[in-house]
Amino acid sequence: MKSGKVVPSDTSAALRYLTASGDIVEFTAETLQTLAKYRQRRFWQSEAGGQLFADVLGKLVRVVHASKPKKADLRARFGFAPHRPTEQSEINELHAHGLHYVGDWHSHAQDRPAPSTTDAKSINECFRKSKHDLSGFVLAIVGKQAFPGGLYVGLADGVQVVELISQTEQRTGELTDR
Ligand SMILES: [Zn+2]
Repeated sequence: MKSGKVVPSDTSAALRYLTASGDIVEFTAETLQTLAKYRQRRFWQSEAGGQLFADVLGKLVRVVHASKPKKADLRARFGFAPHRPTEQSEINELHAHGLHYVGDWHSHAQDRPAPSTTDAKSINECFRKSKHDLSGFVLAIVGKQAFPGGLYVGLADGVQVVELISQTEQRTGELTDR
């Protein structure tokens, strides 16, 4: 770490989010690097998306893998339609390696992204239809700004999506004395 002013963490360090039920959702630096590659910096770039996989250790849900968009997905500037059969085989394959499917990610052409009504509806539906023992599914949206500001992270419980605030953002105000 360089001394002096606080550098926004972006993708060099993990980001942690605390849920209302006391779980910790952590995005590893590697996962953040994968997501950062799909920022829609240019107006002609399309929305991209994939799935999020984690190892779950008690209350710690570590998102260690964000899958990349597949050829079969439909991509557009405003909208992303994943190819479900491919997704299911990815879930089965990674499960064999001890990784759990915990949610979805996609990109938005917004600085600080927020989920659309359709985004919220589909992740809640996905949560209700899936067999799992998680308190919620993670919805991550990659915006144009640096992380954590440019990364939306929400938890879907089947009814609503609650935004989670990164611990880095919560601390920003107190970091000046370091
Ligand atoms: Zn969206």
